[in-house]
Formats: sequence, C-alpha cells, structure tokens
Amino acid sequence: MSTDVTPERVLAEIPTRLRIGDGWREATGGRTFPVANPADGTDLASVADATAADGLAALDAAVAAQASWAATPPRERGEILRRAFEEIHARREELALLITLEMGKPLADAYAEIDYGAEFFRWFAEEAVRIDGGYTVSPNGRGRILVMRQPVGPSLLVTPWNFPLAMATRKIGPALAAGCTVVVKPAEQTPLTTLALAAILEGCGVPAGVVNVVTTSDPAAVVGSLLKDSRLRKLSFTGSTEVGRLLLSQAAGGVLRTSMELGGNAPFLVFADADLDAAVEGALLAKLRNMGEACTAANRFYVQRPVAAEFADRLAKRMAELRVAPGLAEGSQIGPLIDEAGRQKVGTLVDDAVRKGARVLTGGAPLDGPGYFYPPTVLADVPGTADLLTQEIFGPVAPVLAFDTEQEAVALANTTEYGLVAYLYTRDLGRALRTAEALETGMIGLNQGVVSNAAAPFGGVKQSGLGREGGRVGIDEYLETKYVAIAV
Ligand code: NAD
Repeated sequence: MSTDVTPERVLAEIPTRLRIGDGWREATGGRTFPVANPADGTDLASVADATAADGLAALDAAVAAQASWAATPPRERGEILRRAFEEIHARREELALLITLEMGKPLADAYAEIDYGAEFFRWFAEEAVRIDGGYTVSPNGRGRILVMRQPVGPSLLVTPWNFPLAMATRKIGPALAAGCTVVVKPAEQTPLTTLALAAILEGCGVPAGVVNVVTTSDPAAVVGSLLKDSRLRKLSFTGSTEVGRLLLSQAAGGVLRTSMELGGNAPFLVFADADLDAAVEGALLAKLRNMGEACTAANRFYVQRPVAAEFADRLAKRMAELRVAPGLAEGSQIGPLIDEAGRQKVGTLVDDAVRKGARVLTGGAPLDGPGYFYPPTVLADVPGTADLLTQEIFGPVAPVLAFDTEQEAVALANTTEYGLVAYLYTRDLGRALRTAEALETGMIGLNQGVVSNAAAPFGGVKQSGLGREGGRVGIDEYLETKYVAIAV
C-alpha cells in the first residue's frame, strides 16, 4: 500500500453526510451515529443519521431525476458506469483500506471484493446498450405484437454490511444501466464505503438525484416510510431472511416489485471419489472467505464415510495454520467478526454442538483481547440435532458429518428452508449432474469453492430469495415489459 494511503487520510476524506439530489446535507436535526472498527471496537467516524423525512427527501430527488435519466442514451449511461469501474480500480488502495477499517476483513479479501464489486459496473455498462424488445406477427396474422422494456422507476436499494462495496455495485450497476434512479440505504455498520462510492459516481458524471444515499441508525423507520410511498417502484434488498420477510410484507401494500437476496445454509458435499486436495482447498474458500460472514459460506460439510475422517483432519490442519489478526496486520488471513453480537451467536452455536456431542478438532472458543475475533473451527461427529445445521453460522466454523449414499447426501443437503448455494465435489460426471439437478439451490459450485461472478445469475430459491443479480438476467430486475397490440 502506498505510504500516503493512511487510515487518517482516508477517513478524513470520506463524506459523512447524506447524499441527496445535487449535494451533501446533514440529517434533519443534525443527528449522527458512530461507525466502529471491529478489530478493536474504536470509533472510526460519525455519519449523518437520517430520519424518515430525510429518506423521503431522497425519494423526492430520485423521482425528480427519473424521467431525464431514463431518457439519457443507454450508451451514455453505460459510459458513466464504465468510468466508475475505472475509478474504483484507480482508488482501490483507499477503498480496500476503508472496507477493512469498517468491516474487518483482511486487506487481501478487501482487494478481492473490490475486483468483484467493480466488475458489476463494467458488466452492466455493457448491458445498458443491449436492452431489447420484440416484434411478432400475431398467430392469426391480423395483428402485430410490439414488446418494449422500460425502466421500472425509482428504486430503493437496501444493502448488508458483509460486502459493503460489492452489494452496492451489484444493485446500483443494473439499476443505472436500466435507467432507474436509486435511493441506497447501506447497513449501519458499514456506511462509509457506500458514501465513498457515491462520491466516485458523482465524479464520474452521474447526474444529480440519480444516486442518493441515506445512512441511518433507524432502518425500520426510514425504509418503512419509503415502502409506504407510492412513488417508489422497486425494492432490492440483500440481508437476512428475517428482515427480508418483514420488508416483503411491507412491500405488499404497494404491490411493489421486489428482488430479495437473503440468507443461506450452504451444504458442501464431498464424495469418496473426489480429489480430496481440491476439496479441502475449496472448503477453505467456501468456509473462510470473509471469515464465514457470507451468504454463500459453506455451513454444513457432508462427506462420504470412507473419506470423512481424513477430510475433517486435513481441513482442521489447514484451518489451524491460518493467521488470525486485525485485517490491516501484515499477513492477516482471518479478521474479526463484525460485532460482539455476531461473535456471541457463533460461540453459542459451537457450544450447543459440543454439548450435544460434537468433537472440536481446532478452534472452538473466542479469542481474548480487543476486537471480535473467533478462530477457524472444525467440529467432527456433529449430531443431526445441532442448531448450527439449521441456522446460518456467519462465522469461521465448519461442522463435518458423514453420509453413506448419494440419495442420503442430497436429502440431507435439501433439509433446510434455505436454497442459495451448494458445493459439490466429485469426479464422476453422471453423479455431478444428477446431484446438481436434485439440489434445491439457485447456485452450485461444482469442484469449486466460490460461485460469485458478475457474469452469472446470482440468487437463491426457497427462503433464500427472489430474483437474480448479475449475468444477462440481472438487468431484468429493473425493467418492466410493456406490449403494444398493433392493428395492421
Ligand atoms: P440484516 O437483515 O440485519 O440487514 C440488512 C439490511 O437491512 C441493512 O441495511 C439493515 O440496516 C436493514 N434492516 C435491518 N432491519 C430492518 C428493518 N426492520 N427494516 C428495514 N431495514 C432493515 O442483515 P445483515 O446482518 O446486514 O447481513 C447479513 C445477512 O445478509 C445474512 O443473513 C446473509 O446471508 C445475508 N446476505 C445475503 C446475500 C445474498 O446475496 N443472498 C448477500 C450478502 C448477505
């Protein structure tokens, strides 16, 4: 990292006010809330604490800008996104530092998030000019069917704290490409990266009112009043299934278009014929990327009995070697969890599994000292009644269980209300395809531990959500279809 990119300098340059319309403003009443560093619990900055009225002011700005943004040539919309892609890369050192400071992930993971997150702007810059429609002769030959696709309109984008840059670009990219204006409501734990992104977009030529950002410590009030406003046309939410359900019920009042990227409980299946080295390396990625604080994190490891003990031992050995340290420390591979509540949840789930008979192969207890550190943990012989098999762990804990047959593995994998992603390791092509077809998830990592890719449709089934982000279909979430019946 360059010597002039220091936490002090980067934090001093972050806008901490609300981005509404053509400027930056304090929250009504001037209230602010603090943003903490999970590596030591100290405050990094204070940001404006928006009220419901501020949220509505942001919607006013988005509504005012909607018509002219929709009429902006698609190429121009794409070029703005493309410039923002370049600018994120040009400023990657500052952004990585900021992500690590407010979210805790190791700097190397922050750089990986920047590469992934920026890609949504490049991808949707290219998609902006490919919005198409259709022209068909009616089956009876007497009419014509013209199909056009138009921006859905002002959209509310609510994002989580675990990927503060990528979860924002994954929504802003397709929305802007489609011609929608947005109000972004970042998570209260990590508002700084979104504010930095708004400044970048402004510098790249996004017109006033097209991207508005409201930071708040009271998301229920701000989001709740926006969802009641009939000028809002779309909600795109990424976060927990619990909050997603609540917002879906609130969105029902206005029959709002919704996209929901919710929680996961990913199974990781290893068959006896798999390349075990590759499976262990894939497991490390699927489990420990972002300290396990990812909706795609492998939550349950099902390993065929002949290789189950060896897999668990090898995984434990590799996980025990990793360096747990503040994300800015040299060589850090595992940073702190987001806050004490997150760490306590992980600890409670591990204690429950151990009380019910699981064996700790490595880790198993929180680390002393400042910050919310929990070490990589492998649990073997986990009983089927353990709570961590049904709940999202959101921490660096890998429960390993043995299975005997392919049918049993699929049944175990599908025993969850979630359906975001599954990982599958086998060298048998027939088994790979059969299993991939039978797994009830929106995504599958076949012999690979990471599925996220801006060019692919990301999303879940069952209670993991509705809709897809990224890929060719990602822009559809922000487009309405209109058809004109033509008499000829
Ligand atoms: P969360 O549901 O607590 O919060 C997500 C967002 O919703 C935040 O912006 C928060 O301020 C807001 N929010 C919280 N309560 C609200 C309320 N009552 N009304 C309106 N808004 C409210 O989730 P989190 O803890 O920030 O993120 C972790 C969760 O996100 C995990 O469950 C994870 O699986 C999920 N996630 C899913 C994906 C995906 O693509 N499927 C990606 C990342 C994270």
